[in-house]
Amino acid sequence: MINNEILTNYSRDSEIFSQITTDVSHNPFGLLISSAMNPGVDQSGLSADVPVLGSDLILGSQSLVSYVNGLSDEQARDLTPANRAELVRRLAEDGWGKELVEGASWYVTELDMIKKLYSSWKPSGAFLAETESIVDDVALYLSSNYDLSDVKKNWKSLPALEKEKFLEGFLQQQFSIMKLDAFPKIQFTHFDSSKSQFIPNGTYDHESNTVSINLHPNDLNSNSFVKAVSTAFHEGMHSYQAQLIDKAAKGEFNSVSPIWGDVLMLWVNGQDNASIDATRWGDGYQQNPQEAQAWSATDWLRESMGADKSGLYTWSCSSK
Ligand SMILES: [Zn+2]
Repeated sequence: MINNEILTNYSRDSEIFSQITTDVSHNPFGLLISSAMNPGVDQSGLSADVPVLGSDLILGSQSLVSYVNGLSDEQARDLTPANRAELVRRLAEDGWGKELVEGASWYVTELDMIKKLYSSWKPSGAFLAETESIVDDVALYLSSNYDLSDVKKNWKSLPALEKEKFLEGFLQQQFSIMKLDAFPKIQFTHFDSSKSQFIPNGTYDHESNTVSINLHPNDLNSNSFVKAVSTAFHEGMHSYQAQLIDKAAKGEFNSVSPIWGDVLMLWVNGQDNASIDATRWGDGYQQNPQEAQAWSATDWLRESMGADKSGLYTWSCSSK
């Protein structure tokens, strides 16, 4: 996730998407993370060639692209997490350092294969249940501490500082429910989203561990309580994902964990060239594993508040 700011937006007409970095000065597959994903592998002189732990792909004489392209729907769905992550890693690596030119066929083809691997991925039941449990606890916190219909009605007219205080308290509670070791910094921005379609409603930055929420008076977050809580929760979910990846990197859980395969997908999605850019792929953005989990969880929370789902990408709950 180096240089990869995860951006979120619920307004389809003002979307902003994570930028694909063209900085080739660092290894696209960070030493720390690769080391944790490949325990026992000598990391000295590590290159992007180190395979994902547990993958056992045999491409034979096929190229990477033709191998993925040739997978039937069923075969794509049944890939092991390690093989799926490894295919994404190698596709992204193929794109690494090449000129990212709109319409260049090698690049579009490889991204198209990554999209196929993301859209055919289903999270584990354990990950769905863990996500669901966070949503349930956050929903319970809201419903037992606030008269939600009252807050919804009065949100727009609340002074800005009161809005910030509410969202700050909400996020602190969410971080605590998610059992984060390092609570992210929270910052409020005030960009006028009516002036540009490229203003994010919220962001999470892994490197600085910071959640940002836009609260300009013209911003949807400022005018709608559901929107504001959705944005905050969604960005908070990205900090949870970041912690899972960091924990894996520190060796705090490993491949026997029931959510290991899910963390692999979150991890590989954060690597350079492995993020589906919606300016090319439209709804493919929501199928980025990091977005699929965050959007789905946010929709479950919206549902619990009696609000419409965004409907952009929703996994089924594990038990509902
Ligand atoms: Zn997001």
